[in-house]
Amino acid sequence: MFDSGKVTSNFQSEWERRALEVLREPLESGVVTVSRAARSAEFPARFQLVAAMNPCPCGWAGDVCGRCRCSSEAIARYRGRISGPLLDRIDLHVEVARLPPSELRQDAPLAEDTASVRARVVAARERQLARCAKPNSQLGQAETASTCRLSAGDHALLERAVDSLQLSARSLHRIVRVARTIADLAGEVSIGTAHLTEAIGLRRAARGLDAQGS
Ligand SMILES: [Zn+2]
Repeated sequence: MFDSGKVTSNFQSEWERRALEVLREPLESGVVTVSRAARSAEFPARFQLVAAMNPCPCGWAGDVCGRCRCSSEAIARYRGRISGPLLDRIDLHVEVARLPPSELRQDAPLAEDTASVRARVVAARERQLARCAKPNSQLGQAETASTCRLSAGDHALLERAVDSLQLSARSLHRIVRVARTIADLAGEVSIGTAHLTEAIGLRRAARGLDAQGS
């Protein structure tokens, strides 16, 4: 989160699975290594990935209108193009339902205006830089353990979530870093149960997709 640069794409219609898998290394390490014969070069590649995909080939799965006629096999095949290991490296998974026309009107009231959100994000980023001289997303495992402390009860909550959602160790560390960021956005010194629960919830949406991954 909060890295400079951004890539926005529709995951599935524009990219082959093989091309998407190449994102795994830079998403994890922030660098790309190119090796040719005896030589190897490393290039900086720290970026923020923002990607969207449809829930099924026709795009209507889960909608209240019930228009989706895709078979479960077709949906599994479609979602299986995004691997579990790639999803693992994406911190926030959010399902977005179709909005009713009344909410799309230009004069529809906003929950919070952009300037206020921006101010909160800037303040949260400053807290992170003051704490570790880097954004939470770039914390290593040891730094995550020392700066993103959870209460004993929250540790148990996280372990239960990892078990029931069958999450990887990588996901676990990423959830803790997201919880730290949510606490930073709220201006809280410590990570609370509500922050951790929200971070776990941001992993939950993709569980159906992970099951199809390799
Ligand atoms: Zn469909």
